[in-house]
Amino acid sequence: MDRQPFIFEDDSETWLRDIMENHHEEARARALSLLAGTRTTDTGCRVRNTVGPAKVRFRGRQVAAYRFVLCILERTIVGKDTVVRHRCHNRQCLNPEHLQFGTQADNKRDDWEFAANGVDFDLL
Ligand SMILES: [Zn+2]
Repeated sequence: MDRQPFIFEDDSETWLRDIMENHHEEARARALSLLAGTRTTDTGCRVRNTVGPAKVRFRGRQVAAYRFVLCILERTIVGKDTVVRHRCHNRQCLNPEHLQFGTQADNKRDDWEFAANGVDFDLL
């Protein structure tokens, strides 16, 4: 997808950019410790013992832990229009190999495919 040719950062992008430039080691340690606190399911999902998707608070902002893990480990700055897709359809999952950046439209399509076909774990 082409980037829009104007410079605009929403505040989640600004937050991530500051982390990538100034606090990446600390953020990476945090992401790895989140992963260290997970258990691995039969399908390879890595989940924490939380009721909903785990959250993480870092440098003044609270975000979904899966989003934090993927952005930090892939060192990718994304804005709020970018969603993190769970290819395993388990929103509790923090396994970076099950996560992928996408758009809202991708997310919807994932839901339809999941409703039709379930999860194909061979693709993960
Ligand atoms: Zn998973």
